[in-house]
Amino acid sequence: MQVPLSRPDISPADRDSVMDVLSGPQLSMGPYTKKFEQLLAKLSGNAYGIAVNSGTSGLHLALKAMGIGRGDEVITTPFSFVASSNVMFFEGAAPRFVDIDEDTLDLSVEQIPASIGQSTAAILPVDVFGQPANLAAIKKISEQHGLKIIEDGCESLGATHLGKPVGHPDYCDAAVYAFYPNKQITTGEGGLIVTSDEHVAKLCVSMRNQGRGDGDHWLLHERLGYNYRMDEMSAALGYSQALRLDEIMGLRENVAERYSALFSAVDGVRTPYIAKETTLMSWFVYVVRFDSRIDRDALMQWLMSEGVSCRPYFTPIHLQPFYRAEFGYREGDFPVTEKVSRSTLALPFFNRLSDEEISYVVDRVKAGIERFGQ
Ligand SMILES: *Cc1c(COP(=O)(O)O)cnc(C)c1O
Repeated sequence: MQVPLSRPDISPADRDSVMDVLSGPQLSMGPYTKKFEQLLAKLSGNAYGIAVNSGTSGLHLALKAMGIGRGDEVITTPFSFVASSNVMFFEGAAPRFVDIDEDTLDLSVEQIPASIGQSTAAILPVDVFGQPANLAAIKKISEQHGLKIIEDGCESLGATHLGKPVGHPDYCDAAVYAFYPNKQITTGEGGLIVTSDEHVAKLCVSMRNQGRGDGDHWLLHERLGYNYRMDEMSAALGYSQALRLDEIMGLRENVAERYSALFSAVDGVRTPYIAKETTLMSWFVYVVRFDSRIDRDALMQWLMSEGVSCRPYFTPIHLQPFYRAEFGYREGDFPVTEKVSRSTLALPFFNRLSDEEISYVVDRVKAGIERFGQ
């Protein structure tokens, strides 16, 4: 059996929406873009939504709109996808990494205050694997120190923290979602910024569209901008998918539950931990952790040869070749992140993963542990 790591789930209604765009005249900046933006703004309790062409573009614009630039430091996690800290360098700012909590895998809030200094401008928490960061506690710290919060919600659309959605204005100044094909909902490529700060929203709208102003002057550029626009086909797909977000989250929850039930009887495997503050988990990937006696890399190679796609989510950002070479980070800098990252494995995970596929994956993991655990 071959089980892929992820697989998009495109419904007939999703296809119809895209075809609807293709049979009309407006392939960019049309009504679907507006509807998609409004839907996600509302879902997150925000006044504004700004669709862009990737999660990375969204993070870049949010950061820039908040005035973060040269010399600024942004507190963030090294246990994430590399884009969450790369965007800081786009603006001459830099990440100030703080290690993670060993259970939730999100930023260790206790360690944030000691890392705040003269140049700290913001905190950028990441909702890793769909589990919201400790947003309420981070908000408290940011208020004490006058820091902005940009939430990377690129893995957590639909999740709630203490009863409020990720991206809520009570938790951050802006948040960003992403829609690459392996995310909860997809637009192919795409992202979306949500905020309730009118000034930030205006700047993001302008900068995604070549720095154009409010008026009708297509060739007047008020500031440096980019082409970060989302096209209308992508927006139609995203809108249609977002309408069935509850259904999608339910399917994913079921898959995660089935995995966790089967793995509960397997020695040496730790299933995902859900924090008590996580009132609704939005499953992005299903990541297990292995006991240190198990050779994760050998097990991973073997699982691939058995048709089970899997990946070591994440390699710590500070140990990426570019970060090591450019900034001198080394092993040992963030011990919890490194320890966790040596033990994790993302298993096949998508809406319509069948019972048979799940059983096969769990069975192969079990067999692999017998081979590669001492
Ligand atoms: C997916 C993701 C992004 C954005 O990725 P794009 O490919 O640019 O859409 C950013 N941060 C995290 C943590 C992600 O998982």
